[in-house]
Amino acid sequence: MTDSNDDNVVSYQKNKNFPFSLALVSLIGFSILNLEYNEPIIPVLGFHGIINPKNTDSRSQLGLMHYPQEDLEKLLVNLINDNYWFLSTQDLYDFFLTKSQKIPTKYRNQKPIMISFDDGYKTVYTNLIPLLSKLENKYGKKIKVVLFINPATLARKGSKKFTHLGCQDLRDGLKKGFYDIQSHGLNHKDLTTLNRRELINELVQSRTKLRQCTQDLDPEQKVASHFAYPYGAYNKQVESYVAKYYLSSYLYNDEIVTHTCLKNYYEIPRLMVNREKSTTQLLEIARGIFPKQHKEKNKEICQ
Ligand SMILES: [Zn+2]
Repeated sequence: MTDSNDDNVVSYQKNKNFPFSLALVSLIGFSILNLEYNEPIIPVLGFHGIINPKNTDSRSQLGLMHYPQEDLEKLLVNLINDNYWFLSTQDLYDFFLTKSQKIPTKYRNQKPIMISFDDGYKTVYTNLIPLLSKLENKYGKKIKVVLFINPATLARKGSKKFTHLGCQDLRDGLKKGFYDIQSHGLNHKDLTTLNRRELINELVQSRTKLRQCTQDLDPEQKVASHFAYPYGAYNKQVESYVAKYYLSSYLYNDEIVTHTCLKNYYEIPRLMVNREKSTTQLLEIARGIFPKQHKEKNKEICQ
């Protein structure tokens, strides 16, 4: 009993100081926010398909992994207004990881972000290209998106199967300047379960087939130079083979790139985006006001 009385006295005294504590907490809070804002982070967002509830084609793809088109539009408009630079995989590699090239003057005042889409869903063509074209016409800004593709799942020519992109869709998005086409393994297999021969086949065939599809449009062979591990699954062996055929590789681990301390180009963090992440949450993450768990994980990467 006495203990609880003592507690009451303490809490009463605390309450008397409440306005002062509140001011102090707010002050500390603001400085933390400011520090966070200045952290050299590059959010890499990992989407899958884009659903448009009005479009009957996408009815079968209403899974959690597919993001609503109108929410994506809201996000992109906000990012355009906030003066973001939509990085390609080669941009991240050249300007931030290896720093082998100086950031061109026109990008110096911009904040970097990468928007990626995995698994080559058809809706990344049917619902995303019209949206990107609309935003380009309205705001005069071309948004580059990264596609991590499994060439074995590409729709065959003339096929009526509408779940996945075809080579012609990839070529069209590339010609229009919206797509940065990269590799996600030939068949979307968990690479940690494969023997050496199967692993090499997944890595090499994926690159060969994507480059065959885009050859004449990609003289510098930027297509399939970078990789994303299917299921985000990797180990030391997988990583060492990916390093033989690709310049960098992306995870799917819900963490954020702090490029100043990212030493391993084959473990680039990506944030998982599904329908549960609202536009507002994604914008907060992009602005560096991300939830506590991201901050803590981020620190570990930096050590
Ligand atoms: Zn995937």
